[in-house]
Amino acid sequence: MCLPSLFKHILLAVFDPIFMREEHEMERRGNWRQAQFLRRKHHLDLFSSIQSWKRIGNLILAQQRLVFLAQKEEFFRECEGRCLMHLTLDLAPDKDCLMEKLRTAQRLSSETHQKLWYEERRYQKLRASIPEGPLRRALYAREMQPDWHLSSKWLQGHCAAMGGCCRRSCGCCAKPRNSDIHSKIYGHCFSYCICCTDTRGFDVRPKNLENDPMHVSLDMSKAQIIGEYEERLLNSYIWGLL
Ligand SMILES: [Zn+2]
Ligand SMILES: [Zn+2]
Ligand SMILES: [Zn+2]
Repeated sequence: MCLPSLFKHILLAVFDPIFMREEHEMERRGNWRQAQFLRRKHHLDLFSSIQSWKRIGNLILAQQRLVFLAQKEEFFRECEGRCLMHLTLDLAPDKDCLMEKLRTAQRLSSETHQKLWYEERRYQKLRASIPEGPLRRALYAREMQPDWHLSSKWLQGHCAAMGGCCRRSCGCCAKPRNSDIHSKIYGHCFSYCICCTDTRGFDVRPKNLENDPMHVSLDMSKAQIIGEYEERLLNSYIWGLL
């Protein structure tokens, strides 16, 4: 239901304080799931619109892009480390070729590091643009959960099905995907995951997230009734009810 924005503001002013009291009461009793269930119900009943789904779709994509770039940066850092080790131990028959590989890895890790910096700012702007209301509260409550992405069995199953580390017992998805201790990025595997690459036995180097064979594209920009895949993503990333 797409409501004119004035009507929406009135609804927010009149009903949202009541909703917030109900949600707060559920949380006070330790019933986090019930509070999220209420937020979802309130959002779907009164505030749902194509615009809000579009924003959330962009936010989920931006979060996945952070994970993708973090894995890409670590991948090229690992390439650098392996090249340097071969050079130090004098293991390479063709030193010029190895030096060229090292320079390429250094350039790409540095470029990806910069892209990641910009992408983190973009993500924060998108997050801040989610309007006041039950959807925003659900998102913030979900983010407060420790290991939120691991609590979704569906996300873990999806990662395993795509050949990610959730298929194995390595535990990579439980650890930060980058080495920046001030801004840790958590998420499931894409093609640049070093552990997945070593297990697979060959490199897959997609230019961007959209070209990654381990990524499933999502689109919440057009349809008011979103697909089953998008519904499950929403449930994993926002409501936390899977
Ligand atoms: Zn792993
Ligand atoms: Zn992996
Ligand atoms: Zn995983």
